[in-house]
Amino acid sequence: MRVTIIVANFTSVNRNGIFIMNRKGKLYFRYGTMGSAKTALLLTTAYNFEERGMQYVCLKPIVDTRDNENIIRSRIGIQRECRWIYHDTDLYLLAQELFEQTMSVIDWFLIDEAQFLTAEQVDQLSRIVDDYGSNVVCYGLRTDFKSNLFEGSRRLFEIADTIDEIKSTCSCGRKTIINARIDQNGDFVEEGAQVEIGGDDRYISVCRKCWRNKRIEQASRNALPFI
Ligand SMILES: [Zn+2]
Repeated sequence: MRVTIIVANFTSVNRNGIFIMNRKGKLYFRYGTMGSAKTALLLTTAYNFEERGMQYVCLKPIVDTRDNENIIRSRIGIQRECRWIYHDTDLYLLAQELFEQTMSVIDWFLIDEAQFLTAEQVDQLSRIVDDYGSNVVCYGLRTDFKSNLFEGSRRLFEIADTIDEIKSTCSCGRKTIINARIDQNGDFVEEGAQVEIGGDDRYISVCRKCWRNKRIEQASRNALPFI
């Protein structure tokens, strides 16, 4: 029978002998638009943890199942191995397995592309924080190309302990808000699935005003009579 009693605010040892310190972890959500260097920040954080000998794990939801490389890669050229999160992965169970393998609690979980987590998986992350005192840092997008929240992001906004915005600048100088999907002509796409397998080059992050102006310009252009 598997019985594990965890009291996060007191020192205790669970059934498997895992030593649980007086830990108080946090669930973080660090969000930004595409191109705001979220992944670079995650990888820099991982590098710092490694230098200090801190235990951490990198994780990433798998969107394209044809992808064989379990690597988190930033456009500035740094990369690191990660574990895949599948749509049905129970992250709480995954953490328990990791703790049992290492016989200790992992200090930090770093999660890339957290917008693709399910709401249930975000709840599982919060339980890792509350039961074990690990820190979980989720990096991700706030909204999709239609400016609607992703499922994982919505749940993170609802229950994260700490929420930080990673800012980047539109070509006009304002803060980027929207991840616009573009077609081969550079026009904004208004319809389609929330997640499409494809390159990041199909997106451009812009401020809300530029997003609006461009859509108005496109609509008026399309309304012109064909001559
Ligand atoms: Zn702008």
